[in-house]
Amino acid sequence: MNQKEIRVRFAPSPTGPLHIGGVRTALYNYLFARKNGGKMILRIEDTDQTRFVAGAENYINEAFNWCGIEFDESIEKGGEYGPYKQSERKHIYKDYAEQLINSGNAYYAFDTTEELTKIRSEFEAEKKTFIYNAIERKNLRNSLTLSKEETKKLISDGEAYVIRFKMPEDETVVMNDLIRDRVEVNSSVLDDKILFKSDGMPTYHLANIVDDHLMKISHVIRGEEWLPSLPLHVLLYDAFGWEKPEFAHLPLLLKPDGNGKLSKRDGDRLGFPVFPLEWTDPKTGNVSAGYREDGYFPQAFINMLALLGWNPGDERELFSMEELIEAFSIERVGKSGSKFDLEKAKWFNHQYLVKENNETLAELLMPIVIKNGVTVNQEKLSEIIALVKERATFVADLWGQVDFFFIRPKDYDAKAVKKRWKANSYDLMLELKELLSSFEDFESDIVENAVKQWIEANEYGMGAVMNAFRLLVVGALKGPHLFDIVAMIGQEETLERIDQGLNELGRKE
Ligand code: GLU
Repeated sequence: MNQKEIRVRFAPSPTGPLHIGGVRTALYNYLFARKNGGKMILRIEDTDQTRFVAGAENYINEAFNWCGIEFDESIEKGGEYGPYKQSERKHIYKDYAEQLINSGNAYYAFDTTEELTKIRSEFEAEKKTFIYNAIERKNLRNSLTLSKEETKKLISDGEAYVIRFKMPEDETVVMNDLIRDRVEVNSSVLDDKILFKSDGMPTYHLANIVDDHLMKISHVIRGEEWLPSLPLHVLLYDAFGWEKPEFAHLPLLLKPDGNGKLSKRDGDRLGFPVFPLEWTDPKTGNVSAGYREDGYFPQAFINMLALLGWNPGDERELFSMEELIEAFSIERVGKSGSKFDLEKAKWFNHQYLVKENNETLAELLMPIVIKNGVTVNQEKLSEIIALVKERATFVADLWGQVDFFFIRPKDYDAKAVKKRWKANSYDLMLELKELLSSFEDFESDIVENAVKQWIEANEYGMGAVMNAFRLLVVGALKGPHLFDIVAMIGQEETLERIDQGLNELGRKE
């Protein structure tokens, strides 16, 4: 038997920046396609022209380029099922809407906005909600209540109309979902959704179903917010007599406290990005933070997102894209929402930073080093980074961990001075300076052994020496192994820093 080709799609509407929930949906589609040797399609759903936002489509492309999600067919890549932008497929949909009218599954509706608003307020006055459904449509102006001739005349007279789906009055709609299994709903609670608008454009529902069919989509993997549309979509497939794809509705990404869906506004409110890249609203000029600009590695971002809703069934947490493809299955996507966790996001970034090779980190850090007026070659910077990277989450943090390798202390941490600069510190450091100037070879472990022997022989106490020494070299009680620092800055610089510190701090009375 011929196995059906796996074809999935990500179908964003370019109405603004892509939310991280959307990136996760695209990611799961991508992993599923790659895992099963299928194809991944990017389709831009821009039929709602009132919601068009300049720059949104570019943003979508740039975001996927950044995080390494590749498409096999798209506007940029092309493909045999194009065009991949619905506004360029405009001419396709009307025939399908009419096909549904001819088969008795849809009808023309001539009600004007004013008429519908009036009916709505009449209903509200009686504390009822108006729904354009199987019962109400009998009292409204449409091709089901008007005669064939009247309908024809209105259309040829150029009267505005929409095409609505004729929802069955009382039918159980059975839906199968790969994550939720079997879902049932009675059609009496559903309305006669508009399929084709008076502006000549299809609505999302019609365009989405027609395109999924024409593009031979085998699996529709999308966010749970589309679950309420599923009954209509299932009925549309049946009305056309088309084979349905498999459906999988992904659980929501939740706010950190678990209280509701992570929304586009949450990022600014809660202080973390909800968008992959920074976004400047073209109308207001407002800037929203992005993971890229906040210093996240794309691999860490992807790794974090993958685990927000899916789990590998074991304890592993760190996955490259290749490993995710290998491990991914829809069966392991959870049914309940996943809470976003900023600390976890940072943890992932830290893991990738530590794993990243030092030369690459040096290259990334170099612009910040230069901006601070420091000149150093990449090799030396890599060696220094190796000493401190365990202490950083982002590349930008590294500067605060390495600055003292290049810049002498300008001042000395007051708290540390108060606690660690003692009555005998001055003389101890003077003696240490003598010892340090005697070395020919200033390597970390050679200096360390000698200093420790000197401390022990004189019973000076490790803490007393090392804290005062660090204070003079670094200016504070921070940084990696002190002997690694002094070996890196060299003998001369170490001695000068001791001199400077002795001058500045003086002998404590
Ligand atoms: N255009 C819809 C969106 O913006 C697509 C939903 C679907 O995948 O069916 O998310």
